[in-house]
Amino acid sequence: KKHSKVKEMIKKEDEDDKLVALKPITEHEKILAGRKKLPVFPYREEFLAAVKDHQILVLVGETGSGKTTQIPQYLHEIGYSELGKIGCTQPRRVAAMSVAARVSQEMNVKLGKEVGYSIRFENCTSEATVIQYMTDGMLLREILTEPDLSSYSCMIIDEAHERTLHSDILFGLVKDIVRFRPDLKLIISSATMDAEKFSKYFDDASIFMIPGRMFPVDIFYTKSPEADYVDAAVVTVLQIHVSQPVGSGDVLVFLTGQEEIETATEILIQRTRNLGSRISELLICPVYANLPSEQQAKIFEKTPKGARKVVLATNIAETSLTIDGICYVIDTGFNKQKSYNARSGMESLVVTPVSQAASNQRAGRAGRTAPGKCFRLFTAWSFQHELDANTIPEILRTNLGNVVLMLKSLGINDLIHFDFMDKPPADALIRSLEQLYALGALNDVGELTKLGRRMAEFPLEPMLSKSVICSEKYKCVSEVLSTVAMLSLGSSVFYRPKEKKIMADTARMNFARGGGGDHATMLRCYTDWASTDYSDGWCFENFVQVRSIRRARDIREQLENLCERVEIDKTVSKPDDNDALLKAITSGFFYNVAKLGRTGDYQTVKQQRTVYIHPSSVLSKEEEPPLWLVYFELAFTTKEFMRQVAPIDPSWLVEIAPHYYQQSDVEDSKAKKMPKSKSRGR
Ligand code: ADP
Ligand code: MG
Repeated sequence: KKHSKVKEMIKKEDEDDKLVALKPITEHEKILAGRKKLPVFPYREEFLAAVKDHQILVLVGETGSGKTTQIPQYLHEIGYSELGKIGCTQPRRVAAMSVAARVSQEMNVKLGKEVGYSIRFENCTSEATVIQYMTDGMLLREILTEPDLSSYSCMIIDEAHERTLHSDILFGLVKDIVRFRPDLKLIISSATMDAEKFSKYFDDASIFMIPGRMFPVDIFYTKSPEADYVDAAVVTVLQIHVSQPVGSGDVLVFLTGQEEIETATEILIQRTRNLGSRISELLICPVYANLPSEQQAKIFEKTPKGARKVVLATNIAETSLTIDGICYVIDTGFNKQKSYNARSGMESLVVTPVSQAASNQRAGRAGRTAPGKCFRLFTAWSFQHELDANTIPEILRTNLGNVVLMLKSLGINDLIHFDFMDKPPADALIRSLEQLYALGALNDVGELTKLGRRMAEFPLEPMLSKSVICSEKYKCVSEVLSTVAMLSLGSSVFYRPKEKKIMADTARMNFARGGGGDHATMLRCYTDWASTDYSDGWCFENFVQVRSIRRARDIREQLENLCERVEIDKTVSKPDDNDALLKAITSGFFYNVAKLGRTGDYQTVKQQRTVYIHPSSVLSKEEEPPLWLVYFELAFTTKEFMRQVAPIDPSWLVEIAPHYYQQSDVEDSKAKKMPKSKSRGR
């Protein structure tokens, strides 16, 4: 039956071709014609035959060959979607959303209907959905409620070479699932790296190669190391722009994060403005994880004649997104990586040199449609001697708390013998077990407690979910939900344009009045906004990013719904009580406590590491910095900074976490009393 379907399809496509010849070409017909030009297209039948013959396939092809957008459609066209949904995972939210949007366009259907996506805090699927893109983290969550993935006929674990923490866990789980679901097709899809390793792990699965069409890329290095790679990148963009004909191709720059991208954008705008009409138009397109979806579409728009596009991206553009027309790549040689010190239990985001493999992948982005050039902003010596050959999988450099919690709630108790592709270091595993035990999520024989089971319901780090659950005890559920939603954004809601810095800072400090540090500041900001019926105008007046805070509202709503599932009364509220809020926060974050030292820096209480308040904190300019702080996370840039901090009373620690803090840990602070929080002056 399926075979005849294929024939029908081919026939239909032939007819489509004829129609194209007769009628003027519409936008959608152009898209369909584009589909046939992709490198994967000539291998469609061969690939489908391989899927028929094998339960597990490892699919390998250069980025941009059509794996992500085409394979699910092929499977759908041949009828697999009649047996169950076709799922496809992506390591990043932006990729999941943008690819789903693209495929719905190709299929000429509304996004969220036949083609949908689901990412944390956002579900854009419906009863009609047959092709579902999702983050790998979301698939893990789905397995919690549907352990055999029974609603799927095919599952594609895409971008497998990225080896994200969630993908690595998924490998172990789906490997098991296919054993008792012989009808489930599993495709492990990856760029041209590690194919053998994947095949071996999945019991010598067949490898299906899509031969690439790559043009040569010339690689240039700097003669000496760059002191400021952001500035060097900007200079290189402008050099390319003035020295190379505009029609010769667009530029892609790899930077490490949103802040850097925004800085580079500003400098570029300024310098091109100074050059005025002496240069042709330069369109600047930023791409990073939290980029609002309206702007995401912009990066794919065709560059108008006479102009050049420069895409400033994080490593999201390394493999997950393909932007056509790029012929110049500028590689700063860095990305932002999670790094975890299992001994100290510290996890932080660190700007790290990329691997040789990643750098080569970046260079490859210049040679998709024509010969290209790649400018590496580091020396050839450094490439050879300082870069690792391959990127270290995330599972080897992360806090495993959330994952352990998740595996435990899936009934996988023996983590040491779980079939990991690369086993996480034993001390990291033990650390997270200890942390979950300290949080009360595991009992002393390592089983999930009732609290742990409730925590696992939330798509949050264990420390955050613990805070949410404890908010009931301190009668401030509503407040903690808003605060946690704001903390979960991953970037600041406060907007600080260069030319209006002082006004922006004043607006922000208005929320800080009333004490309680960054946490209470965020809460007040959220509450004030909510009281204006979520007004956009209010956001502009107060220098708050409309899109971010709206996202906080969505997140909050999701968390509220989850509260019902774990029987937390979400209506419990205690406005303007900083102590209640911060006690609930400390219940989750008692690991993250630091104490003021004599020299004005802070020491973390348990590990005695020197840390500093991040300059973006409302407490960073306090004349009398608080003696004790709870912090949300550490970020290592020039120094080890604590981000999102709030003052606490050390006596809470003994009250909240008596198994973790003894009186002696908090003793010497007795002499100086905590200043009472001032009431808010308005
Ligand atoms: P792969 O997964 O093999 O890297 P993709 O399926 O992502 O390849 O990409 C195939 C083609 O689809 C690329 O040429 C890319 O430019 C195009 N494409 C992907 N997403 C979009 C989009 N949102 N808008 C326009 N073109 C897109
Ligand atoms: Mg892809």
